[in-house]
Amino acid sequence: MMNKPGMLVVYSGPSGVGKGTILGPFLNDHPNAVLSVSVTTRQPRPGEIDGVHYSFITKDEFQHLIDTDGLLEYAQYSGNYYGTPKAAVDKMRAQGKDVFLEIEVQGAMKIKKSCPEAVLVFILPPTYESLKERLLCRGTETKEIMEARLNTAKFELAQAKEYDYIIINDDVGRARKQLCAVVEAAKCETRYM
Ligand code: 5GP
Repeated sequence: MMNKPGMLVVYSGPSGVGKGTILGPFLNDHPNAVLSVSVTTRQPRPGEIDGVHYSFITKDEFQHLIDTDGLLEYAQYSGNYYGTPKAAVDKMRAQGKDVFLEIEVQGAMKIKKSCPEAVLVFILPPTYESLKERLLCRGTETKEIMEARLNTAKFELAQAKEYDYIIINDDVGRARKQLCAVVEAAKCETRYM
């Protein structure tokens, strides 16, 4: 018997908003939900594992994926390229898995057009100031990169209204509950029947 294909969930929010802190426990509690591993030309940060956090590839390898139609979407962000491998996502969805794409807004808007069945969720910080503080505390980036990311964040926050659901991360426990509620609600939408 054929499995019902899994959902495609686009999950975005500005750098430092706490996306991983909300999604991590959700994925642990929902074995049927999986996070797509993107390819990127960015250098790994300390502790990041190739094939787990990202597949770290060269610009030539990235270009080859574009040329062979191997990416569901891709975008440039802070000087690096990021993309979603198409075959892996298709395979997981065909197995009935709900696939989460943790991607930035340009890629998300491409998915909105090319995969109208996708559910789009955006995580908002309570305020822009709180985002700045969190990015500073994280301390994983240089000052220049952090400033570039904050500028990008302004652009991203303005795009939030293009998403189906917005979750404000002013209380991480509530944000986690809201993510569960959103995914459950999306499963009841007629497009997923
Ligand atoms: P970071 O360098 O902090 O890991 O990621 C930078 C941004 O790129 C984040 O907003 C992240 O969600 C996004 N990103 C990660 N993978 C992809 C992808 O495959 N496609 C797109 N469009 N954005 C991605």
